[in-house]
This record gives sequence, structure tokens and C-alpha cells, in this order.
Amino acid sequence: MSPVPSDLEVSRAQTPKPISQLAQEIGILPEELEAHGNTKAKVHLSLLNRLQHQPDGKYVLVAGITPTPLGEGKSTVTVGLTQALSAHLKLNSFACLRQPSQGPTFGVKGGAAGGGYAQVIPMEEFNLHLTGDIHAIIAANNLVAAAIDARIFHEATQSDKGLFSRLVPSVNGVRCFSPIQLTRLQHLGINKSDPGELTPQEVSTFVRLDLDPEKVTWQRVSPLPTQFDIAVASEIMAILALTDGLADMRSRLGRMVVGSSRTGKPITADDLGVTGALAVLMKDAVKPTLMQTLEGTPVFVHAGPFANIAHGNSSVLADKLALKLVGEDGYVVTEAGFGADIGMEKFFNIKCRTSGLRPNVVVLVATVRALKMHGGGPNNLQLVKDGCSNLKKQIQIAHLFGVPVVVALNVFKTDSEAEIDLVCRIAEASGASAAVPCHHWSRGGRGSVELAHAVKEVASQGSHFQFLYNLQEPIIEKIRTIAQKVYGADDIELSTEAQTKMEYFNQQGFSGLPICMAKTHLSLSHMPEKKGAPSGFILPIRDIRASIGAGFIYPLVGTMSTMPGLPTRPCFYDIDLDPVTEEIKGLF
Ligand code: ADP
Repeated sequence: MSPVPSDLEVSRAQTPKPISQLAQEIGILPEELEAHGNTKAKVHLSLLNRLQHQPDGKYVLVAGITPTPLGEGKSTVTVGLTQALSAHLKLNSFACLRQPSQGPTFGVKGGAAGGGYAQVIPMEEFNLHLTGDIHAIIAANNLVAAAIDARIFHEATQSDKGLFSRLVPSVNGVRCFSPIQLTRLQHLGINKSDPGELTPQEVSTFVRLDLDPEKVTWQRVSPLPTQFDIAVASEIMAILALTDGLADMRSRLGRMVVGSSRTGKPITADDLGVTGALAVLMKDAVKPTLMQTLEGTPVFVHAGPFANIAHGNSSVLADKLALKLVGEDGYVVTEAGFGADIGMEKFFNIKCRTSGLRPNVVVLVATVRALKMHGGGPNNLQLVKDGCSNLKKQIQIAHLFGVPVVVALNVFKTDSEAEIDLVCRIAEASGASAAVPCHHWSRGGRGSVELAHAVKEVASQGSHFQFLYNLQEPIIEKIRTIAQKVYGADDIELSTEAQTKMEYFNQQGFSGLPICMAKTHLSLSHMPEKKGAPSGFILPIRDIRASIGAGFIYPLVGTMSTMPGLPTRPCFYDIDLDPVTEEIKGLF
């Protein structure tokens, strides 16, 4: 329709097919499906075993140029491209998307189901509770916080003997360690399984974590010197996105470091004895959720780390399942958040390193609107041309990893032919294998057929993937490499706090992890107002954290906050429920 109705109206106008029908069409067995109503279903991980000998499909990453705060259409392109591949080119395809948190949905940007005629439906369900994964993450995060508080309190108020008799109670007159306590004893080098055999010194070592209240690093609200994190920046969210199954998730949850003892020893969730309970809270969240696009093609929605303050990519499990389901000739299109400098860099250096998967092609989304912003203003060809410095730089970043690029220019109705032409010409002159205008937002899959052909062609040419740094390099060198090669900085500068933390992580043996930079998405640099491709700056590293369970070192750049606030006038002003019809209003 023209004009295109609101995202919510477009979504409501289409009746989704029953999710069990979609599952059957794509080869999922009824026993592998756990329906949540008629339009969403969790998929069992046993599917990966059943399809283990099936060759993977082609792996396509959708990334973008540095965006405006409104988003430039990566989710929309991801959905439109799979609609074009499946419904129009008759190739198997799957879209893998992140679940949005309440922050964007009720804040500035709105939901993340795509938009116009390239959406996941029903968009209300996608954008609101989905199947409860984020709630599970919040519950697990709170449980760790409660376990920390309880432990500090009990250790402060009880003797070694009192603690021991409560931590290892007698059952029918017999004292016995639980399995997680046996693991802790092993970690401590105490090879005894009978509680009666422990010496007083061993009892003391066993019962006292001696967690230093000044050195609790687990993020939440408390009188301790820790803070709030938004759920999508939490380590548990990162673990959900990076794990390859239940056993691995459990051991990653156990490795999470929550703080350190008074003698400087890292204290983990395993030490708190909370790992098994966390795995129980997360057991359903680990299964990806199946939904569909407006054109009835399959979508996995799973995990939702932000790309600025987290690693910005949907789950490894959803991608792996989708690659098996589409088969050798099919395509999986997965999306990395925000600009390629952050979402794509972390896709390659963190997600691909963890999963072992290798992408065939990068689709880089650009809009004339954002290019004009990079050029310095709203309306002329010269500004678009100047703004292409950002596009050119983001193409070069993908090439650092040896992966070919197709530029998808997401066309808005205000764009002129001359502007569209200019961007595509500059993109190709800057090394993109192809650059095509896309009209999926206003026309659905048929508006992305040209993009689908370009992706098919370039994906068949092969890529020469390589990581940007070796894990063995010192932490400081890995950060410097990202700052200089990806962001275009002259160098980095560590605050005293960052320096101290880095030395501490080196001592603890955590230096061999990849880096997850927390940096603004609004500029290639740390300064949101510096558009285009800034140069001649020193990147300030304010602090460094470590997410040992997720498996990365987490430097905080400049003033970046891991608890972004809402704007003065958030989207929730416009969101309401009709109490009679139960219809949701204002959700874009
Ligand atoms: P991203 O994934 O890059 O953050 P989205 O795909 O979520 O961006 O799109 C952001 C918003 O912009 C959505 O509300 C979407 O409907 C809208 N949008 C995307 N492409 C277009 C377009 N070509 N014309 C008009 N609106 C668009």
C-alpha cells in the first residue's frame, strides 16, 4: 500500500500461518518444537544432533554504517533479504535476529522486528515478552546478586563452625557435600569427600570466600560500589548468545567472576554455589524462538546483546541451527548491531571465534539520511558524497577481515535518483563487490530481489576470512589494534584505573581473551558528534572489566555508560492498551 501504513498496522493486517505448519515446512519434527501459542515456538537443541551431518548453508552477515539514533534499517534489510531469497528466488533462507530489550522499545528507537513490508510478525509479540528469555536473564542476574549479599552477610556474622554446619547440613545424621561443593573442594585442592575429614584450616578455607565488599564487580543496585547494568549488557545475556548448548552454558555461568576476595583471588558463581540454580533459570532461554516474516519465511529470535555496550550479536545456537536447516544451497542472514566498526568487529573477533563459523559475505546497510548526517547537513549531493567517507571506512573494515561486501542502500521515499546513484557508484569505487538500492520496506521481498541476486553471486565467490588479532597478544595490544585499524585512532590512552585492572587480569591469567569494546555507536571514534571517518584522535580507555564466563575482556571507552537512560520524551508516552479490545496502540 502507498503510503505504507505504520509497522504495527502492516503486521496486524497479515495473519501468520500456524507456527507448527512453518516448522513442518522447514523440516522441524513435532517433538522438536515447543509451541508458545500459535505464532512462536521454542526449538529443541536436539535438532542440532539430528542434523549434524547436514552441510551448512551460506552465512551472510548484515552490518551497517554508523547510524543515526533512529537506526538505518539493518533488521529491515535482514528480513527483506530473506523474504526475497525464499519467496522470490525460491532458495531456503533463515533470518536470525536479536530480541529487543525494553530500552529501545520504550525509549527512542522503537522495536527491532524490521519495518514496513519487511517485518517479523506478530511484531507486538516479538517486541514485548517473546518467550520470556530476557526475564529469565534478569532473574538469573538477581539470583547472583542475592547470593553475593547473603554470602557476605553470613560470613560476617558466623563462625567457621557455624558456617560449616549450615553449608553442609546433616541429613539423617550424615553430613555430605553437594556436587557443587565437591567441585569447589577440588578447585581449592582439597581432595576429600567426607566432611568429617576436613582439618579446621580446610574448613575455614572451604566456608570463607572472604569476598571483599569493596571489590564486588557484579553489576546491580546495592550500597556496595557496584552499579546497574541494562539486562542486554549483562554477562548472562552474553553467555546466552555465545554458548553452544546446555552443558557449555552451565560451565560458563559457573566461571562468571563476581568480585574478588580480600587477598585478591577471583570469586566465581561456582564458589557461591549458585551455578546449578542459574542453569535451571536459563534452561528454556537457551532454546531459540521460531517466528516468521510477513511473507511466511522462517526467523529465529534469540539473545539480544547491544552492540555498543555488549557484543551485539544474536545467538551462536540460532545461527548453527538455521545453517543446518537451510542446507547446503540455502542462506542464513544474521544481523550485527549498530555500525560495522562495533557490531561486525565483534561478530568476527568474538562470535565467529567462539562458534567456529565463517561468513561468506557482509551486507553493509547504508541510507542517504545517515550519509547526509556524516556529510554535515540535510540536503545536497555534495553532503552525501562527503558522508560516504563513513561508508568507505566501514567497507575497508570488513575487508580487514577478508570478507567481501555488498552494500544495501535502504531507500527512503525522500531519496532522489541522483543520490541513490551517487552512493552506489562511490560504494563500488570503494571496493564493495556490489551496491544495490533496496525497496523491501515499501515493497516487501520483491523490493530486495536485486540484493538477493547480488548476495548469491558474491557469496559463491568465496572469502578469505582472518581475525584481526591473535588472542595471545597482550590485552593492551589487542585494544590498540581495534582502536587504530577499525576506529582510525592514532593511539589509546588508559586511565590509572584501566591500567590497574589490566594488570590484575594479566596476573589472574585472563589475558588470552578477545576484546569487547564498549564504545558509542554514533561515531567511529569515542566522540558521538564526530561524524564521517574521524582521524587524529587518542581513544581514552576509562575502565576495563572482565566477563570470564562469556569469555571476553570488556574495556569501557570514554564516558560510555552500561546503564543507558531513557530520553526526556520516551516512546512509552505513545504506547497504550485499549482495555475493551485489548489492542496495543503506539508500538510503531
Ligand atoms: P536497524 O536494525 O539498523 O536499527 P531497523 O531495521 O530496525 O534499523 O529500522 C529502524 C526503523 O526505521 C524502523 O521503524 C523501520 O520501520 C524504519 N525504516 C527502515 N527502513 C525504512 C525505509 N526504507 N523507509 C521508511 N522507514 C524505514
